[in-house]
Amino acid sequence: MPSEINGNIIEYRLMRSRRRTISVEVTDEGVTVRAPLKMSVAEIDKFVIDHKDWIRKKTALLDEKKKNQQPVEHLTRADIDKLADEAMRVIPERVAYYAPLVGVTYGRITIRNQVSRWGSCSSKGNLNFNCLLMLMPPEVLDSVVVHELCHRKEMNHSKKFYAEVLRVYPDYHKWQKWLETHGDDIMRRMTG
Ligand SMILES: [Zn+2]
Repeated sequence: MPSEINGNIIEYRLMRSRRRTISVEVTDEGVTVRAPLKMSVAEIDKFVIDHKDWIRKKTALLDEKKKNQQPVEHLTRADIDKLADEAMRVIPERVAYYAPLVGVTYGRITIRNQVSRWGSCSSKGNLNFNCLLMLMPPEVLDSVVVHELCHRKEMNHSKKFYAEVLRVYPDYHKWQKWLETHGDDIMRRMTG
């Protein structure tokens, strides 16, 4: 649904739902506007026009980021299986090491090759870890293990949660920074 702005067109995908407010998001897939069911197209267009500078800036930033992306070497099925085997050997050991330091118990440990997250912890204490962690420095893996184990105490990302993480793993922020910088490239090795 194109929105005409002084001869410049911003294309956006419109998704209507039972929501009260309108929002706009810019991703690699383009511009998505989420609007309430009954909002008029004119109102939605006005919203897009009001946000056109922000949308253009965001789009330019994403384009720039894409241009600077280094090509990655994609993992084969065999590579991933090998990583999963290694993860199944290494990660339970790290969890067993840190659980008493955090002071918690845990349930099952599952290794996944997912492209969305590095780890997770269910309310029952079952832990999930991404096998791609095996491609990173061991300190990164440890920081993720401690993060998930601390969710056994705090099921949120509150100050209290991070205080507990830092008590057990003082270098946490350093290695999370590493993950922020390099994580996307490593995730990209799984897709495409
Ligand atoms: Zn978390």
